[in-house]
Amino acid sequence: MTTKKAKGPTFDGGLCRCCGNMKKCRVLNIEYESFGEKEVYSDMIMDCFSLLLSHLDGVPSERLICATCVNRIRDALSFRRQVLRCEEAFLQMKIYDAKADGLFILKYFFWKFN
Ligand SMILES: [Zn+2]
Repeated sequence: MTTKKAKGPTFDGGLCRCCGNMKKCRVLNIEYESFGEKEVYSDMIMDCFSLLLSHLDGVPSERLICATCVNRIRDALSFRRQVLRCEEAFLQMKIYDAKADGLFILKYFFWKFN
């Protein structure tokens, strides 16, 4: 059963491809909008985990994802971006650390991210 909502189509009692539960689901590879941002869950899974799900060209009822798994992917992607930001800051710190007092730079790093 398909219902059309403002954010995109949802399926009641669909099989989530990410947890195996029968729940209200969205379609993995259709663009949805959340908090003003466009998101495609299969793309987010690829970006975050490098996982390519099969049969995404099949019928919509076979390419679903539940709200719980959508939130987990959002969290995972957010965490991935956070780690990358910190890695970038850490690498900058190491560049400056080679020229300056290491302890001072380390204090700056923790001040910036805590
Ligand atoms: Zn799920």
